[in-house]
Formats: sequence, C-alpha cells, structure tokens
Amino acid sequence: MKKPSIVVLGAGYGGMIATVNLQKSLGINEANITLVNKHDYHYQATWLHENAAGTLHHDRTRIEIKEVINMNKVNFVKDTVVSIKPDEKKVKLKNGEIYYDYLVIALGFEAATFGIPGLDEHAFTIGSINSARLIREHIEYNFAMYNNEKDPNDARLTIVVGGGGFTGIEFLGELANRIPELCKEFDIDKNKVRIINVEGAHTVLPGFDPDLVEYAMNSLEARGIEFKTGALLKECKPDGIVIEKDGKLEEIPTKTTVWAAGVRANSIIEASGFETNRGKIEVRNDMRAPDYDDVFVVGDCALIMNEESGRPFPPTAQIAIQMAEAVSHNVKAMATGSGEVESFEPKILGTVASLGHDDAIGVVLNDRKLFGFKATVMKKVIDNRYLLKLGGPGLLFKKGKFNIFY
Ligand code: FAD
Ligand code: NAD
Repeated sequence: MKKPSIVVLGAGYGGMIATVNLQKSLGINEANITLVNKHDYHYQATWLHENAAGTLHHDRTRIEIKEVINMNKVNFVKDTVVSIKPDEKKVKLKNGEIYYDYLVIALGFEAATFGIPGLDEHAFTIGSINSARLIREHIEYNFAMYNNEKDPNDARLTIVVGGGGFTGIEFLGELANRIPELCKEFDIDKNKVRIINVEGAHTVLPGFDPDLVEYAMNSLEARGIEFKTGALLKECKPDGIVIEKDGKLEEIPTKTTVWAAGVRANSIIEASGFETNRGKIEVRNDMRAPDYDDVFVVGDCALIMNEESGRPFPPTAQIAIQMAEAVSHNVKAMATGSGEVESFEPKILGTVASLGHDDAIGVVLNDRKLFGFKATVMKKVIDNRYLLKLGGPGLLFKKGKFNIFY
C-alpha cells in the first residue's frame, strides 16, 4: 500500500513541534514526512527582540534544523512556499511543487502595517533573523555615523518604537540595556539618546494587569524610555514620524522607526483562497480547515475563539506549541487509521514578558503576579522548557539561558 505523504509548511514553533512529534510517533514504513522551510534553520521568534537590540547574538536564537530533525526519517526541503492549492492537494514552491495527502500549515506571522503611509517603506519590523539583525546593524550604523558628520544629526540617536504591546515593551527593555553600552562604544553622551514608545491606547499593554503595567512603565522610564500613550503613529518618513495625540499632529525626527504594533497571519493564507476570518483560517475543533479534511493549521495562521471572552485567542508561541501537539496526534490518527482525532483545547499557563535581561513581569497559574527577579527566572524557565521539549537535554545545554543575572 502507498505510504501517505504528510507535508509540514514552516519550521517555527508549530511546524517544528509537529514534525518532531510525527518523527517520533510514526514508523518509517507508515508515512513519508516532509518539512518545508525558507531557511535551513529554525528560529525562536520569541527571542528576536533581543537580537534586534543587539543584547543577544542571533546564532543563539537560530537552531539548525538538522540538529533537531532526523533527516533519515524526515525529508527536509529548503524552499519558499508561494501558494497552496488545496483542491489539487498541492503546494507551489519557488523551485517546484509538492503533493500531499495530509498538510500542516505552520507559516506563522507577518507584521501588520494597516495601510499606514510610509511604514512598509521606512519602518523596521521584528519578524525574522534577517529583519532583527538589520535593526541591530542600523542602530549601530547611526551611532557610528553620529560623530563622523560635520553637523551631528540627533535624529540618528532617536529610536521610535511603534506599539506598546508585548513585542514593543520587550524590545524597549532590551534597548534600555543596550544603549548605555552603545554610547560607551561610540563616544556618545547618553543624554542625547531618545527612545520613544508610541502607543495608541491610553496605556501600554492594554488589557494586561494594571499593577504590572505600572511596574513595567516605571522600570522602563527609570532607564530612560519615553512613553507617548494615547498617541497614534500616522505616518513614517525616512527622517521622522508623524503622530496624532489629543487631535494634534506632532512630527518626531528619527532615522529609526521600529514597527511593533501588531501581527497578521502569513499573507499566503489569503492569497491561496482559503476562507478566512481576520486573515486566518478559523479551524474546526480538531484544527482542520473548514472545507478541507486533509488540511490542518497551527500557530499564528490558525484562529480559535475563546468562548469566555468571545474573542480569538492571541497568537502566541505557547498556543502554537499546544496546537502542534494536538495536530501531530490527529495527523497520525488519520494517516494510519489508528485512533480518533481529538478536539483541541488550549491551556493558558500564563504570560511572562521580559523588560531587559534583568527585569520582567508576568501572570502565571491562578492569576499569580510576578515581577522583578522571580519573573526574570520564570521567563528563562519557559524558554528552556521549550528547548528541552524540542531537542532534549543536548539542545537545552547548547542554547539554553542559564545565567539568571544576564
Ligand atoms: P513562526 O514562529 O512565525 O514560524 C513560521 C516559520 O515559517 C518560520 O520559520 C518562517 O521562516 C517560515 N516561513 C514563513 N513563510 C514561509 C514561506 N513562504 N516559505 C517557507 N517557510 C516560510 N509568544 C509567546 O507565547 N511568548 C512569548 O514570550 C513571545 N514573545 C515574542 C517576542 C517577539 C519579539 C515576537 C515577535 C513574538 C513573540 N511571541 C511570543 C509570539 C510568537 O513568537 C508567535 O506566536 C509564534 O512565533 C507563532 O509560531 P508559528 O509556528 O505559528 O510561526
Ligand atoms: P499586539 O497586537 O499585542 O500589540 C500592538 C500594540 O500596538 C497595541 O497595544 C495597539 O494598541 C498598538 N497600536 C496599534 N496601532 C497603533 C498605531 N497606529 N499607533 C500606535 N500604537 C498602535 O502586538 P505584539 O505586541 O506584536 O504581539 C503580537 C502577539 O505576540 C500577541 O499575541 C502577543 O501576546 C504575543 N507576544 C507575547 C509576548 C510574551 O508573552 N512575552 C511577547 C511578545 C509578543
């Protein structure tokens, strides 16, 4: 009998956990497993703000796929997905095509720029190893240029972060740690540097615990971050941004705008003609796409509703990993005809956000609030737990975060 072909698209949290689980649970004679990814490495998107600020080298964040995946059991294809044709059970790649019996879509997120003028052209985003490295290099270049121009341009030392959600806040924390080092390195007076956060809501981290929000703002303000809340970023230019606050427009000169004000699902989903809700595939209980019994979706491309709040669950690595665990079970059940497909129910264990390497905030099980040292340790435990799950103790010791003071 022909072995079924299982194809996983994307090697982020969802794609990697799905592939590792399938590799472990399926025998070589039971199915052909293929993983397709743009790069030959997996990166932990949850560390990219550190790479962007330059507080952590990007080689710590990326993991070679062959280190984790058994290439004798999984066919790895380094290629870029162009579109999915579910009616033909086929995926178009930049360099060919691939057919499947079961598909797992795990193509992740992109920055959402909401049509704001100039953002696509002039702003930076934190979305991949390459985009994070570009931000680090760009900031260093501007600091290096500052003392090499006849008329030093203060816009080179102004960094604007658009959006005060978790990505914006975590990036600000890293910048707060990094800027003093950069000033020393490039002979720059620290008082000349401005790091400005522009957040449209009346507070950063809207909807999060107010005590922890206050703690985060105090911690970051004490390290020189300026907050402009209730202020919408309206336009981005090569040399500045325009914001609107209390009905008034203000222009802030800057050479560096980092847009961290929201994400959307990979645009391949909409372009491939799937039925979407907010750009994502609203999956059935077993994580299958509505009209296709052979297509599963995990991570930031999938939408699942939180019945309690009546709103979608936020796109997080935590949920992507849990979805992948459920999907690998269900794909195996269908591909081998053994067992039943299961419904997926996310278990939210909490939310912990770093404020640089030495401070953090979080809410964990039973609404317990954490901040400072305890939250910092918890954040590292979460990061290390993922490495252990993905690649066992070997990967944990190679890439894990063990220094609790840095
Ligand atoms: P991704 O991790 O985005 O992976 C998608 C993969 O698909 C990538 O490897 C990409 O290269 C590949 N790919 C994309 N397009 C193509 C293509 N056309 N062809 C081939 N391959 C392609 N969540 C948390 O739970 N906790 C956190 O602390 C946290 N911190 C975060 C910090 C930052 C700075 C950011 C940006 C996000 C953070 N998140 C966090 C959110 C989390 O990173 C995402 O929800 C998670 O990465 C989604 O996982 P995924 O598997 O769906 O996709
Ligand atoms: P987000 O959507 O959570 O936050 C975006 C922020 O930008 C919001 O506060 C919004 O009010 C603001 N905003 C939107 N348009 C604006 C404008 N024009 N001007 C000014 N402000 C504007 O996006 P995110 O922070 O990128 O997070 C994406 C996902 O990743 C979320 O689900 C988040 O929970 C997750 N994440 C989690 C962690 C963590 O758990 N530690 C860290 C980072 C990201």
